[in-house]
Amino acid sequence: MAGKLLIVGFGPGSFEHITKRAQEAIQESDCVIGYKTYVELIQNLLSNQEIISTGMAEEVTRAQAAVRLAEEGKKVAVISSGDAGVYGMAGLIYEVLVEKGWSEETGVEVEVIPGISAINSCAALLGAPVMHDACTISLSDHLTPWDLIAKRIEAAAQADFVIALYNPKSGRRTRQIAEAQKILLKYRSPETPVGLVKSAFREKQDIVMTNLKEMLDHEIGMLTTVMIGNSSTFLYGSKMITPRGYQRKYTLDSEVQPLKPHERLRHENEPWALHQGKQEESPLSLAMEALKKVKAEKAAALDTTGVGRAYNPVESIFELAVSPGVVNKKFTPEQMMALAEVVGQKGTMEYTPHHQILLRIPTSSPDKVTEKLRNVNLSLSPTGDVLVVKACDFCDGEKRDSIPYAEKIQEKLGGMDLPKELMIGFNGCGMACYGAVKEDIGIVYRKGKFDLFLGAKTVGRTAHAGQPVAEGIEPEDIVEVIENIVWEYKEKGHPNERFYKFFKRVREVQGFKHKDIAPNIQIEPAPCGE
Ligand code: SAH
Repeated sequence: MAGKLLIVGFGPGSFEHITKRAQEAIQESDCVIGYKTYVELIQNLLSNQEIISTGMAEEVTRAQAAVRLAEEGKKVAVISSGDAGVYGMAGLIYEVLVEKGWSEETGVEVEVIPGISAINSCAALLGAPVMHDACTISLSDHLTPWDLIAKRIEAAAQADFVIALYNPKSGRRTRQIAEAQKILLKYRSPETPVGLVKSAFREKQDIVMTNLKEMLDHEIGMLTTVMIGNSSTFLYGSKMITPRGYQRKYTLDSEVQPLKPHERLRHENEPWALHQGKQEESPLSLAMEALKKVKAEKAAALDTTGVGRAYNPVESIFELAVSPGVVNKKFTPEQMMALAEVVGQKGTMEYTPHHQILLRIPTSSPDKVTEKLRNVNLSLSPTGDVLVVKACDFCDGEKRDSIPYAEKIQEKLGGMDLPKELMIGFNGCGMACYGAVKEDIGIVYRKGKFDLFLGAKTVGRTAHAGQPVAEGIEPEDIVEVIENIVWEYKEKGHPNERFYKFFKRVREVQGFKHKDIAPNIQIEPAPCGE
């Protein structure tokens, strides 16, 4: 009878998470070898197998016994928790076989049956912490020198890997996790989310959400996996989430502004990616840049005087829009110089159709940028799906009566986050030569009162003007009317739904009725890029 080695990972420890093949393998075996606690965990699968359960420290003895029994013609199931190939028995068994000169053709048959490793089971319980490049590091220096472990933690921390720390601590081994924390804090914010999962999918399961600074204030033991987030990982309620990609971008007035899926992967939003066809950013030049950074960081690390030195923040793209004001359309030379200074060699300055200049500046301190720009009286606003007030110049202030209303609307609503970008056109006379009627919401001052236009289709080949929904709105009412319309759109608009579509869908906004007056033009659709 030919023996066989079945090396089985039985997952985190609950019956439902054992794979079908792992169950079969245990059932078809003649004997089961494993650590005591684990044999108990799979009790339900056993019939009349011979059980060889040993203590933790006797792994090598266990591997040797397994090989011997298989060579005698038995089907031997060697069980490991999680995956047998992750700090499990698979490697040891092969080492024993190799030692004996085993070969695949002539030696006993070996089957390694994969299981759900702690990094996966714990991640599932924590939310989605392992969405990006991740690694596992075992803090056990039982078989590995601590210097090497420390080096790996350092490298993983530096490279911004999500890290699952296995074997973080035991009764006697308590120093390692504190050392690991110290190394990690050199590269990551103290606020970095950290998840502690003890006994995932077992009876005594316990989940703690903490951060890098406070992680040691909680219980960590032999059965805990410590999950360290990367620089983008965030907490959402009780879940730890690592975005699928990096969102190296901040926008004015908001701490976290995740890019919407449709905004991702665009060159301007992710300029560090290896986009095709961009000659000046060849893989070689990027690699050289990365190398330069690593060298600089090495030099910084050698500076041992900086005890408690702040971690190295990742430089992000700061994006904002500037203009001389809502009404004022004239830049001063001083403002232009300040712009050139903050944008520098690496940033970009883009002239937009919205009476604004769009700035994208790689920086780790956006506050310094805003301070410089505010010092020269530039008006700053966030970008993206926000509200922009586009006023005319009121004939250089000659038609100034309605200016305070434009400014009030800007003050109350400018930069507000909305389902989609929203332009409010505000023109100071019936000539409406700045095109208020062509914006999502159009306001025209005429004979001391306001006319209101809603739902222009501002883009596309079927673009059309807004519908005149009211004439002669009293000045004391106009700001409130506009505020209410915008709030209704903010609350009821679908993500990404332009205002005209919203108006058409809901039929009535703040009592203003939608009319199907848009010309019914038959025209072939022409999506972006065609
Ligand atoms: N082969 C196993 C790992 C064995 S090393 C696997 O692939 O998961 C032992 C370490 O694994 C423990 O110290 C702990 O960090 C982790 N671990 C194993 N099972 C776990 C569970 N159910 N919950 C949390 N951590 C677990």
